Amino acid sequence: MSAAASTKRVYDFAEGSRDMRMLLGGKGANVAEMTRLGLPVPGGFTITTRACIDYLSAGHATPRGLDAEINRHLEALEVRVGKRLGDSADPLLVSVRSGAPESMPGMMDTVLNLGLNDASVAGLAARTHNPRFAYDSYRRFIQMFGDVVAGVERGHFEDALSALKSARGVDQDVQLESDDLRGLVDTFKEIFRRHKGEDFPQDPRVQLDAAIRAVFESWDNRRARDYRRVNRIPDDLGTAVNIQQMVFGNTGPRSATGVAFTRNNTTGEAGEPFGEFLINAQGEDVVAGIRTPEPLVELHAHLPEAYDQLVRTMALLEKTYRNMQDVEFTIEEGQLYMLQTRNGMRSAEAMLRIAVDMVDEGLLAPGEAMVSLVAADQVRQLLLPRLDLSAMPVPAATGVQASPGAATGVVVFSADVAERRARAGESVILVRDETTPDDFHGMVAAKGILTSRGGKTSHAAIVAVGMGTPAVTGVTDLIVDEAACTLAIRDAFTVREGEWLTIDGAKGTVYVGRLSLLPPDPHNPYLERVLSWADAFRAMKVRTNADTPEDARRAREFGAEGIGLCRTEHMFGGDERLPHVQDMIMAESRDDLVAALDALRTFQIEDFIGIFEAMEGLPVTIRLLDPPLHEFLPDYTDLRIRVARAEATGVADDEAAVQLPKMERLKEVNPMLGTRGCRLGIEIPDLYRMQVAAILTAACDVKHRTGVEPIVEIMIPLVGFEEELRWLREHILDVADSVFAEQGTNVEYHVGTMIELPRAALVADEIARQADFFSFGTNDLTQTTLGFSRDDAETKFLGDYLSKGILRSNPFEHIDRAGVGKLVRMASASAREVKPKIKLGICGEHGGDPDSIHFFGAIGLDYVSCSPYRVQTARIAAAQAALQNRTG
Ligand code: PEP
Ligand code: MG
Repeated sequence: MSAAASTKRVYDFAEGSRDMRMLLGGKGANVAEMTRLGLPVPGGFTITTRACIDYLSAGHATPRGLDAEINRHLEALEVRVGKRLGDSADPLLVSVRSGAPESMPGMMDTVLNLGLNDASVAGLAARTHNPRFAYDSYRRFIQMFGDVVAGVERGHFEDALSALKSARGVDQDVQLESDDLRGLVDTFKEIFRRHKGEDFPQDPRVQLDAAIRAVFESWDNRRARDYRRVNRIPDDLGTAVNIQQMVFGNTGPRSATGVAFTRNNTTGEAGEPFGEFLINAQGEDVVAGIRTPEPLVELHAHLPEAYDQLVRTMALLEKTYRNMQDVEFTIEEGQLYMLQTRNGMRSAEAMLRIAVDMVDEGLLAPGEAMVSLVAADQVRQLLLPRLDLSAMPVPAATGVQASPGAATGVVVFSADVAERRARAGESVILVRDETTPDDFHGMVAAKGILTSRGGKTSHAAIVAVGMGTPAVTGVTDLIVDEAACTLAIRDAFTVREGEWLTIDGAKGTVYVGRLSLLPPDPHNPYLERVLSWADAFRAMKVRTNADTPEDARRAREFGAEGIGLCRTEHMFGGDERLPHVQDMIMAESRDDLVAALDALRTFQIEDFIGIFEAMEGLPVTIRLLDPPLHEFLPDYTDLRIRVARAEATGVADDEAAVQLPKMERLKEVNPMLGTRGCRLGIEIPDLYRMQVAAILTAACDVKHRTGVEPIVEIMIPLVGFEEELRWLREHILDVADSVFAEQGTNVEYHVGTMIELPRAALVADEIARQADFFSFGTNDLTQTTLGFSRDDAETKFLGDYLSKGILRSNPFEHIDRAGVGKLVRMASASAREVKPKIKLGICGEHGGDPDSIHFFGAIGLDYVSCSPYRVQTARIAAAQAALQNRTG
């Protein structure tokens, strides 16, 4: 690449292609691709993402040479279209839009109609013979420029528009006359002057520079940063800026604007073109949901030629991208223009159906579809609750089926309140007239979203579908009073903030009150197909974390190939068992201890029989007791209060009096780093011996009765030293000998350990000498490596770390590759050096996280284990990991 090429910061649409999205952003690359394909795209050019990064890192200074480069491209555009920016006779108008490498719908800023001023508006009016259109365009420009570029609150302009409409006695913008709009332009300019302290700029080149800078700056606005954090998009990509000749969907009845999907984005169905449009409107009217649009098929009746051309164009785009496309188009006086195309956001149902259909149509091979069309995490949306219709609830209102799934929660009217109440553990339904990108943080927090305006392509719908949040939009019977924090449905219902509401996004229905929800139906034929491909591609096995026969059975329905973690402490709760557990912990003599353990043994044998039967010969990893024992004991402070009260009142409390001194002995300042894990087994060997005896007795019993031999893996938690494992292993072998002698049979069993401490990872080669398998406990390994308490970090400082960019993602959710991940990698490699056949798995929460699964696939773990509801996600992610690792 020549020096000149490497510093080139502006590309004409004709110079780019879809492979250049890192440099030109998604929008720029795709507009370039459409230009290359010869589609009707208004002319323009793209300022690169590099220019944005250079601008931001130079302290918000325009990089040297950029202005001149923009001028050259602008002049070329003016020559090509035969119009000049700011020309008072026939002005060129442009849009200025952001476009990042990763799609961030509506997260950054856009300015339309740039180039209008007091002189050129007259030219536009004369040239189009449509003064109404010209002044409407100008007032929109002042409003957008004011809001996006100059920071004048949008509300000031909206209030002035509403005041004008009520003065004229009309309720639609389109009912305003051209003189009204001319007056509104003056009002808007005055608002601008009042709030900005300067006149609205008349020089189009000044307007353009300011707009470009505003787009660069928008990369760092709060909603963009929030969106990147939630979607794990790096902060250093920057946004490109697209400058494009304006075409107008609002010049009259032969003009229109719309958005469309090449396939239905809710169901995935192909065939009927799917989308929405508005006659005589500008693009933001559709996306912002200000007017409720018509279904795309109706466009045929209005503008048949443009419609047919649009349908042909959409088919070509889908073939080119080999993915469902979401397009924006404008029709100006019957002529179709394509403004943008991108891979469309879709529900989980649609995602799976599109993948399967496209493979069946021969557009992609299954492996390609797995990688490019399936988002493993989204599969969990299929497991969203549905409304229980058996009680035949009557909807209070109906709107657009914007995003599937049902949700029930308390009503809130602002994003901030949604976030606050959700943090406090409440389920909330966010209700707005329409959402804007500023609401994003509240939308993330909400269980469901309800709006009175907007269709399936409104901001609310698109964002909700992408996040898998149920949503109903365009409920015209809904009157939202955000200031009073109430909503009304016709005259029939009023609901105040904090009261319950239920929505069903699959049906578009709204119910007053709290309705019961049903668990979802996991049997989707498209999912079955995608999972069958996944199973053929993946190298890692997928197990589940389950402690009950029900969980084990459910996980097997989802395709689990074994249990990777059965936490036995979950078997020690409940009124029947807890007293024996407490007796065991507080036993003063060996006899007391043996009696308590004998009682527990009976329960444990039953537990393990249930689990082995449910797993029918698949491997089952059972972890011996792990948690700090105080978790089973009465609260220390409560006991002290009880004893003090007994002393003060003279009313004896024998139980408290006996327990308090024992608690004082057991109490630890830092129980998470205290007597837990294998330390319990070393301190009370009879406890682990009882558990091992129960496990192996249950296994022999199941083998004997059912003829199916369980594969038993006994796992020791929180090991840090080889000697700990060697010591406990001897006990296990000893117990096994006596159980098998007693039962007159034996079963296959293995002894292994969790790797949950940095020391264990560092001396994995030593520990491996005693272990048949390792299972990485990445919850504790994250806690102990980072020194972040897994119980507190997420509700305390971690949020702050994320919003300040200290950390890019929550390390308890996505594995910290550089730190914890490095330990896992090192430990795996050194264990395999000593014992090439050692089985390696992971059973921390990261085992169900696609991003972490990719990492575990890359380092060659044998299996991941996750909660039952994440098993399907893990199967797909494991396949994607294998496919991507294969192609490097
Ligand atoms: C872990 O620490 O990752 C683990 C699976 O064990 P637990 O969550 O039970 O501590
Ligand atoms: Mg642990």
